[in-house]
Amino acid sequence: MSNRVKLRVPFAFDNEKQLYDPQAAEKGKHYFCPACQDTVILRKGEIKTAHFAHKTSETCNQETILHKTAKQLIVQVISDWKLGKTDPPILRRSCEICRKSVDQPLPDKVEYAVLEHRVTNGFVIDVALMVENEPAAAIEIRVTHAVDENKAKSLSIPFIEVEGQTVIKNPTVLEPIRDHFLSFTCGPCKKAKARFHVKVNNVAKQTDVELPNHYYRYGFCECWKCKREIIVFAWPKASEWDNSAPKVKPIPRTIQYRYSKTVSGKYWANTCPRCNSIQGDWFLFSDPDGPFFGIRCEKKFARCI
Ligand SMILES: [Zn+2]
Ligand SMILES: [Zn+2]
Ligand SMILES: [Zn+2]
Repeated sequence: MSNRVKLRVPFAFDNEKQLYDPQAAEKGKHYFCPACQDTVILRKGEIKTAHFAHKTSETCNQETILHKTAKQLIVQVISDWKLGKTDPPILRRSCEICRKSVDQPLPDKVEYAVLEHRVTNGFVIDVALMVENEPAAAIEIRVTHAVDENKAKSLSIPFIEVEGQTVIKNPTVLEPIRDHFLSFTCGPCKKAKARFHVKVNNVAKQTDVELPNHYYRYGFCECWKCKREIIVFAWPKASEWDNSAPKVKPIPRTIQYRYSKTVSGKYWANTCPRCNSIQGDWFLFSDPDGPFFGIRCEKKFARCI
């Protein structure tokens, strides 16, 4: 590479290690590259937008600059917030039920952020969010490579991955490209879920069906025969054609190994607790009006709703 090639430095340190936006930087003051500490030049002309730059060097490159800058910016934004200078940074989450994106401020319990925190297994977290002096969550920055799978698997705390360039554009809104924080449910879905639970408990009582607390997922449908509302179950299957019994006992009494004329064979089917008729899988899973429409049982359920 020619020596004339300049590395662009989106934010630079001042003497106090505060990151400076080139727009806010003053001519004549000294600024440094957050990655290699090399002196940077402020370019503030009338034609080009203001930016910092430094000469190509063997110890620095564009990728490292972006990575380091993004990390430092997040730490700085959190520290400004904790000092009462700014509002809390926003975390953009997606509801696990309706997928709508919802902005949440970082929770108050986050006390501070640590740059490049080494965890016990040797991995280094880009930014650790500290609660009671322990890393409670991690923010990983992606510039060119996703988080190493081994690292992702061994991280014992929830983490999100954010894109370096996006952070540099706006460090106050963290938009995960990968979200392994605790699952998030939006307000309306939380309410709908609560209503669902009240209703499901009532119908369970009326029909004398015991509700399992894991493995099975449940929903409502109108029995095709007696036209009354009943609870039906879904459970994980190896494939669409998996005909083995549900693996978790006790199996709800309405799931029975029954002969179906429609499929001319026996299978583990939902039945009506009121009139005992089989509720066909096709209706339950493949009919747009069915309670489990679009749910693929081959995938493991995270939990029942
Ligand atoms: Zn540098
Ligand atoms: Zn939702
Ligand atoms: Zn019925």
